[in-house]
Amino acid sequence: MTALPFDNSYIRLPERFYARRPPTPVAAPRLIRLNRALAEELGLDAGWLAGPDGVAALAGNAVPEGADPIAAAYAGHQFGQFVPQLGDGRAVLLGEVIDRNGLRRDIQLKGSGPTAFSRRGDGRAALGPVLREYLVSEAMAALGIPTTRALAAIATGEPVIRETLLPGAVLTRVAASHIRVGTFQFFAARGDDEALRALADHVLGRHYPAAAQAAHRYRALLDAVIAAQADLVARWLLVGFVHGVMNTDNMSVAGETIDYGPCAFLDVYDPRTVYSAIDQTGRYAYGQQPRIALWNLTRFAETLLPLLADDETAAVAAAEAALAGYAPRFEAAYQGGLNRKLGLGSVRDGDPALASDLLTRMAENQADFTLTFRTLCGAAEGPAGDGAVRDLFVDPTAYDGWAAGWRARLAETGRDPAEVAADMRTVNPAFIPRNHQVEAMIAAAVEHDDFTAFEAFLTVLARPYADQPEHARYARAPEGGGVGYRTFCGT
Ligand code: AMP
Ligand code: MG
Repeated sequence: MTALPFDNSYIRLPERFYARRPPTPVAAPRLIRLNRALAEELGLDAGWLAGPDGVAALAGNAVPEGADPIAAAYAGHQFGQFVPQLGDGRAVLLGEVIDRNGLRRDIQLKGSGPTAFSRRGDGRAALGPVLREYLVSEAMAALGIPTTRALAAIATGEPVIRETLLPGAVLTRVAASHIRVGTFQFFAARGDDEALRALADHVLGRHYPAAAQAAHRYRALLDAVIAAQADLVARWLLVGFVHGVMNTDNMSVAGETIDYGPCAFLDVYDPRTVYSAIDQTGRYAYGQQPRIALWNLTRFAETLLPLLADDETAAVAAAEAALAGYAPRFEAAYQGGLNRKLGLGSVRDGDPALASDLLTRMAENQADFTLTFRTLCGAAEGPAGDGAVRDLFVDPTAYDGWAAGWRARLAETGRDPAEVAADMRTVNPAFIPRNHQVEAMIAAAVEHDDFTAFEAFLTVLARPYADQPEHARYARAPEGGGVGYRTFCGT
């Protein structure tokens, strides 16, 4: 019996799409965590995965039957600068499986040793970033946001050399695919139209089968990717997520959140928030993300020009028409989402202004993003709930000045306040991966080999919309509103 029923399609693309390379074995693999629910969803045998053969496979110490390890080639714009060759420098795609829902999913080892694309890197990952990606990607999934998933984390028993020596780890990442805007850019930069067409056809068949049937299938592909990305970025904003490194190589054409590096969630609301220490100009600030997504999609559209029409003018016109669809799509997703967060149902005239007035007051009063919306759920039941919201504002009357208009608008919905509040609690999480808690979890694991905080936090984050009063401490905002918090890239 094959424990991992691989069915690999990417490897059937031309050889210049990837470089074959098995993972490099590690000294002393130890399973930190296996995501049993995800294994089940993938149709994999969790018992086997947790056993010695499974752990060897997840560590990269043995190549399981049916796997065909490859590192994918891609390019990308990093902080606006085009780099014609990046590629999987510390990851290999073991292969693909068809999950319980019939969807094809990549199984990738990240931190599995050098590849043809490692450049000067060691191909490895440190434990801290692996745990961060595991926890945050699983939290995003529980929040209902499209994302890559974490199937397992393995401690390698080997140090990695960064600024200091750190324990090493390997993450098993699951994705709809690992095809990035940068994958298209890799071939576009080489004028390789044949490869572009093969890649576009692969993506159409795999992620956008409806678009594959359209009369203009490559235009339909562009429209579909634009829509998926607009929706995704709106979802990020609605939970206060800052990706931190929205380079085109970190943008999945399947519309999943991918490459969790210096990502973090807002504590106090401020659209200018930047956490990543390397993002010195604030290019990837929270509030910049919608514009950056469009910038990235414009780079994507450019790669498709040879496929969009035979003559360039017509191709550019098609690309521009598609890109013009981004702003309305994003606005609809974002405003619709804000309306749900406020208990208001479908968007009417005046609603965007009402929502934006609240956000402005939150920013001026250093109100915690997550707590403001969660406590608003209680306020929707009646003014008795106002106190908990007001207390989050430096000047509580800033909330009062807004709440009167909100109450009037809520009353117009004619809905039962308890029902409105219950609906609001399904979109305004009580629990997010709070930065200070993430850091404490990582410190315990890295410094003391203690994974109890990791396990406990994962359990809480699996039900972000439930109150879980016994875990109230995970919902608390940090001292000082988390201002000045910094994150570092996952390398
Ligand atoms: P990232 O910033 O993690 O999205 O990575 C950008 C590029 O650097 C990708 O091509 C990665 O594969 C590569 N890279 C990052 N870390 C390492 C590493 N430790 N060894 C080799 N390549 C790496
Ligand atoms: Mg990346």
